[in-house]
Amino acid sequence: MEFVQLNNYAISIEKQFASDIIKESFPLRYGKYSVIKTSEYEFLFNLNGEIKFIRGLNIKNWPHPAEQLKRTDGNDWVYYSVGDDSSEKGIIAWLGEYYLPCLPYPSNSVWEFSYFSNPGAMNALAAWSQLYANLYGARRDGLSSKLSSFIDLVLNNDESVLYEKSMKLSSIIGGRVSVLPPDTRHVDYEIIPLMIADGCLYHCKFCCVKSAQQFQARSKTDILEQIQQLKIFYGRNLENYNALFLGNHDALEAGDELIYLAASESIEAFGFGNSHSKTPKLFLFGSVDSLLKSGNELFEKLNHLPFYTYINIGLESVDAPTLAYIHKPLDTSKIRDAFQKMLDINSTYANIEITANFLLGEQLSPDHYQSLAELLRNAPVPSHSKGAVYLSPLKDSPKKRELLPKFLEIKKQSRLPAYIYLIQRL
Ligand code: SF4
Repeated sequence: MEFVQLNNYAISIEKQFASDIIKESFPLRYGKYSVIKTSEYEFLFNLNGEIKFIRGLNIKNWPHPAEQLKRTDGNDWVYYSVGDDSSEKGIIAWLGEYYLPCLPYPSNSVWEFSYFSNPGAMNALAAWSQLYANLYGARRDGLSSKLSSFIDLVLNNDESVLYEKSMKLSSIIGGRVSVLPPDTRHVDYEIIPLMIADGCLYHCKFCCVKSAQQFQARSKTDILEQIQQLKIFYGRNLENYNALFLGNHDALEAGDELIYLAASESIEAFGFGNSHSKTPKLFLFGSVDSLLKSGNELFEKLNHLPFYTYINIGLESVDAPTLAYIHKPLDTSKIRDAFQKMLDINSTYANIEITANFLLGEQLSPDHYQSLAELLRNAPVPSHSKGAVYLSPLKDSPKKRELLPKFLEIKKQSRLPAYIYLIQRL
């Protein structure tokens, strides 16, 4: 990496890291970012000059050299932890990733880590404020115009501007994304959100991310308007995105026409597929009913788009009393039909992957776990074929870490890949 020196800072502008997100233990780096290094920290800025990552280098209290803070487009600082078990039974087995995102808001994580009480992480955020102040006061004599423009770009994105931008994003799409599909882990949760519907079909009692709205699809005009505004919003940094999330909680219910319109219009507008080396990803949620009523025509169309598409369906349980307990208004035969349809689609369409969510919780009955283990053990698919199942700890489960042995037991029996679902907002 080529660095220029400014006072005590080594600066590299628009460094190209791996073009695709690669799952590896160290370091998690992808896309095109500018880097400022001090003797203690490494700061990464996206192509709009917005702070994105902070990593401790040679400082006391930094928990692990591979860990870092990441700022999301919703302006949350998320701490990426490697956890306390780096064996194959550790985080990689639970999440399918080498990092556990530790969130600054309540969620359903099995691993409690509050970076607010971690001096290393808090010092890193203070170091970012100090860096900003130092850049503000830095003498510019003799600096190249490229370096000077980069400093201006960073200075144009102070904390209040970053907050305003996150509000602007929510206002473009009509509200904050309260949950991302678990499959977005494959792109480190870096997606462009585009809402094609609001609300959901069931309003289940256990759900902590639902809105009060009845299901309502957006109009074509609204979707096209969002695309135009999102293109302006992301600006130069669009180059760092290669994935689209069609929201909200049941985009599949919006139907063929809107899904196809939103996906196909986004390809050109957001520059997806400009690179020959990486396949853009499309993510959406679906429900049991929307999956069961979706016809082959939609899947044929999706399969021929440049995207690899993930559709995540909330199945929750194949045990009738459990469905009643969580107030999911479905019977087990529908859940089983949806599970079978998921397997059929996954084996038919090379570019579509349906995944499913089930629940984990101390308060759930042995019958829930038994019926789930049986379903996954007897799934008529080649072992560990595509179509992951995600087990989502109930948010109000006490002692979530104690759920891990239960999860690992189900994972061991499952013919499908199985992971924990960490509920994460944008
Ligand atoms: S689980 Fe899905 S369908 Fe049920 S309330 Fe939540 S968002 Fe709606």
